[in-house]
Amino acid sequence: GAVICIAILRAAADYTSRVGFFNVGNRIVIQVRNRVFQHLQQLPMKFHDRQRSGDLIVRVTRDVSLLRDVTATAILPLVASSLVLLGMIAVMFWLHWALALLALGIIPLYWISTVRIGRQVRETARKQREREAAMATVVSESIQTIRSIKSLSLEDKKANEFDRHNRKSQKDDVRASRLSLRLSRTVDILLAVSTAIVLWYGAHLVIDGSLTAGELVVFLVYLKRAFKPAQEFAKYTARIAKATAAGDRVINLLERTAEPIDQPNARRPKQLKGDFEFRNVIFGYTSGRPVIANFNLSISAGQLVAVTGPSGAGKSTLLGLLLRLYEPDSGEIFIDGHDAREYSIRALRSSFRVVLQNPVLFAASIKENIAMGSDQPLTDDQISQAAGLALAKNFIEQLPLGFETPIGERGDTLSRGQRQRLAVARAAVHRHGVLLLDEPTTGLDETNRRLVCQSLLQLARGTTTILITHDLRLAAHADQVVYMCDGCVAERGTHQSLMRRRGHYRRQFEQQVASTQLEDSMPSTIAINAASRTGG
Ligand code: ATP
Repeated sequence: GAVICIAILRAAADYTSRVGFFNVGNRIVIQVRNRVFQHLQQLPMKFHDRQRSGDLIVRVTRDVSLLRDVTATAILPLVASSLVLLGMIAVMFWLHWALALLALGIIPLYWISTVRIGRQVRETARKQREREAAMATVVSESIQTIRSIKSLSLEDKKANEFDRHNRKSQKDDVRASRLSLRLSRTVDILLAVSTAIVLWYGAHLVIDGSLTAGELVVFLVYLKRAFKPAQEFAKYTARIAKATAAGDRVINLLERTAEPIDQPNARRPKQLKGDFEFRNVIFGYTSGRPVIANFNLSISAGQLVAVTGPSGAGKSTLLGLLLRLYEPDSGEIFIDGHDAREYSIRALRSSFRVVLQNPVLFAASIKENIAMGSDQPLTDDQISQAAGLALAKNFIEQLPLGFETPIGERGDTLSRGQRQRLAVARAAVHRHGVLLLDEPTTGLDETNRRLVCQSLLQLARGTTTILITHDLRLAAHADQVVYMCDGCVAERGTHQSLMRRRGHYRRQFEQQVASTQLEDSMPSTIAINAASRTGG
């Protein structure tokens, strides 16, 4: 009866402890993963610019899961086993201190081999985590750019790259397993040596009559139980080493400094007036290479300011600085008379309506994508109005599910021009807010370009608008045109004043007008050529 009761109690205790460990592990993983993901989103753009997406995905998902597995299946059981070990050692000393001392004599050897092999496993596990991250990067990059990969026939190249990382990762995995097996076997031998010594000395004691055979057997049973945690520790070394490597990667991410924290009494304006001033701003993505150099510009509330200039002049960077995606290396940006750093970052960003150069759409319906522009719930009418304003309504209504049509990740199921118009619609649902437009007419045909220009100008009326554009016919409508070169203001004024100046702006404008006229006359030229070829 007692045997059965003990077996039931042990089964119940074992079941409860395993479920308990699993629950604790799960709770830890949920908290850690949430924290890591939130932290990841708060890390500055300079960090994200340099990071590989796959590596970050692996850190948030797989690395955190590894921590859970190990916490549930190795560390917590090991803590329990260690308590058992301490109890057993105490009983062994109580039974026969001299035999106990002999039995534990192998501890230094055990320690040396565990530390030495454990270190090697950890190093191998670290490399393996990096390989896995590299594989994830290849996968995520390939999926994100699948159109280009197919068009440029890069499939084999990417497959080879993946295969290389995959093989190396497997090699590291095998090496880690081999090392861990070596440790287990070394520990087994050490324990056998210890048992043999105890048996040899114990037998002598029994022959001498200072110990009974029964006491020796009891001692050996305790010795075997005491060594069990030691064997388990060796068995789990590889998993713990993997988890340590994964944990290091997670901690490394958590230790990175997040975006500047808002000041205690940070400004949280409901609406910005829209006065901006850049004062001697210097900024570079990498130190010592300024992209914005001693930049000075004032923008009054309600103005439409067009920023133009050659590619790479730093125009989009200006928007990044206004949105506080990056902080100036020196100089100040004043918003409504206050240093931008006095504002709460979140409140400041939500005061802007932004249409970025590469409009980003999310895997949701068209309606949801447009509604993301507002923090208030919107009616269908408001969404439809915004789409109308952005000239997106026609194409949306022609889609099978209209506004409910789901769009693929990154908006891949739409054309570039359609994505652009949805991004403008997203900006249009937000009634107030400074408009930041980065190349909003890119990818549009001439008719749509004109229509979108009209709606943008209507949207910009009475609202401070910073419009980055290469389209100087659109820029000509601005109250102030800024021509940037190498991160500085090269020319500034109204369209008329810049045209009188005969500088870069005028040259660019004339070139654009001339090429548009050429394009306009192209169809007739082609028709004449075709007619002369056919003798018509
Ligand atoms: P375009 O008209 O082609 O869009 P731009 O005037 O908007 O160009 P920016 O995008 O501001 O130019 O880039 C200015 C410079 O900063 C370029 O030399 C570019 O290579 C560099 N740059 C832009 N973004 C980054 C980044 N995230 N990390 C490092 N360098 C960058």
